[in-house]
Amino acid sequence: MTPVGLLFKVNSEGLFTCPVNASPVDYAKIYPDPESEKAIMGSVVYCIHHKEGCQWSDELRKLKAHLNTCKHDAVLCAAQCGAMIPRVLMQDHLRYTCPRRRANCEHCHKEFSGSALEEHQGNCGHEPVYCENKCGAKVQRRHTQQHIQQHCSKRLVPCRHCGQRYTQDTVTAHGATCSRAPVPCPQRCAAAPVPRDELDAHLRDHCTAAGVSCAFRDAGCRFKGTRQALDRHTEESCQQHLALVSALATRQARQLESLRAAVARLSVNCSGALVWRITDWAAKMAEAKCKDGVELLSPMFYTSQHGYKLQASLFLNGNGAGEGTHMSVYIKILPGEYDALLRWPFSHTVSFTLFDQSSSPDRACNIVESFVPDPTWKNFQRPSKEPDALGFGFPRFVSHEMLKKRNFVKDDVMFLRVKVDPSKIVAV
Ligand SMILES: [Zn+2]
Ligand SMILES: [Zn+2]
Ligand SMILES: [Zn+2]
Ligand SMILES: [Zn+2]
Ligand SMILES: [Zn+2]
Ligand SMILES: [Zn+2]
Ligand SMILES: [Zn+2]
Repeated sequence: MTPVGLLFKVNSEGLFTCPVNASPVDYAKIYPDPESEKAIMGSVVYCIHHKEGCQWSDELRKLKAHLNTCKHDAVLCAAQCGAMIPRVLMQDHLRYTCPRRRANCEHCHKEFSGSALEEHQGNCGHEPVYCENKCGAKVQRRHTQQHIQQHCSKRLVPCRHCGQRYTQDTVTAHGATCSRAPVPCPQRCAAAPVPRDELDAHLRDHCTAAGVSCAFRDAGCRFKGTRQALDRHTEESCQQHLALVSALATRQARQLESLRAAVARLSVNCSGALVWRITDWAAKMAEAKCKDGVELLSPMFYTSQHGYKLQASLFLNGNGAGEGTHMSVYIKILPGEYDALLRWPFSHTVSFTLFDQSSSPDRACNIVESFVPDPTWKNFQRPSKEPDALGFGFPRFVSHEMLKKRNFVKDDVMFLRVKVDPSKIVAV
């Protein structure tokens, strides 16, 4: 029951609503109170599209008639697409959004229905689109493949000199550094341009204009000139070149000499012990037996880096008391470079060891003899520049009998150790 005097409101869908709780009300079922109805129908209302901008306002009874013409009221699309469109927007709808409208593609100008046009858009072959290689160009969609293959500045093209692939807009810049690009000879010779990476070889080996050095440069010839001039120079300078080479050979011989001396200094034995390897033993023994006084001399060695200079001496067929029956060994003190700084007489213990080369080391029986120098002996004084021929040692070091008993000689080789010990003062 609607109280008299209260006005129904009309919502956005055109329905009357209860003024109390705003729920929709069926106009036909409102209790007909003729007095109230009359009052209601006569009451002044706004158009239901007032908010959209319709200014119409009149008695309620005239609203229905107004809505038939109200430009804000929605009606079915005139092209029968089924949409409800406010009259005021119908023109726009029919022109731009109605799926049943007829329209032309702005790119290819073909006519389509609205829905077909929407599908067509994004596929039209005439629409200009940006190149997918991001070269910045805009080409019609139907020409993109051709553009990418033939015109795009970002397409890969091979360098015509080296064959490496570069984008079309960088291949020219690459040519300025390409190792295979031909460049003219900087000496301006008559040769055709050569690939950049062969230029050095050209200048070195083939260029007729480049200055080349004389082949005798290392020998001291300073000549430098073109290849032709060099040929002439080489022909004319035989004498001069020969003199340069000869001088060089002399210089090098001197260098070799000093190098040899340096190597000898470095390789000299300064350990105070010498293991003397005597090879071709049988032949040497045979020689000693048929000739008198055959003496074998060991390599020189030093007692320390700046010590006494020593040499061992060996008579295979004996000497003095051992002649013909024994092998004799001696030590000689040679004039050395550091004698002035050393103590005299020489007083280091000297020992000789003849090695038994038995295959089982446990059963090997070496022969060892040693002595402490007698300070009164002339042999142990500082040697003069012309030293004594004989040293000091053992004329009867080992008998020929004994030599045969054990493996002192094996594979025609004998080993004799000579050891000088400054700390020992007692002979073994
Ligand atoms: Zn209206
Ligand atoms: Zn429509
Ligand atoms: Zn089109
Ligand atoms: Zn492109
Ligand atoms: Zn290249
Ligand atoms: Zn050249
Ligand atoms: Zn020369």
